[in-house]
Amino acid sequence: MKSPKSILALVVLALLSTGLAFAGDDKKESKAAGCCARAEAKGEKCGHGCCAEAAKDGNNCGKCKGSGKIEKKEEAKKH
Ligand SMILES: [Zn+2]
Ligand SMILES: [Zn+2]
Repeated sequence: MKSPKSILALVVLALLSTGLAFAGDDKKESKAAGCCARAEAKGEKCGHGCCAEAAKDGNNCGKCKGSGKIEKKEEAKKH
């Protein structure tokens, strides 16, 4: 009789390796949307509602071809 425990261990291992593969996929490239990058270059905030909405969650606006999380910069020093 096979030990169910060893089978379970194999299943867990398989799940773990799958999880690791997913973790790699999950790491999206962080890319600011063009409109936001342009606004930022001018020292302004992008005026798009969709971008503001995404920024609230710490994301780049996907609607404007941004992706991933907004890269956190060191807190801007006082202007
Ligand atoms: Zn924008
Ligand atoms: Zn947008």
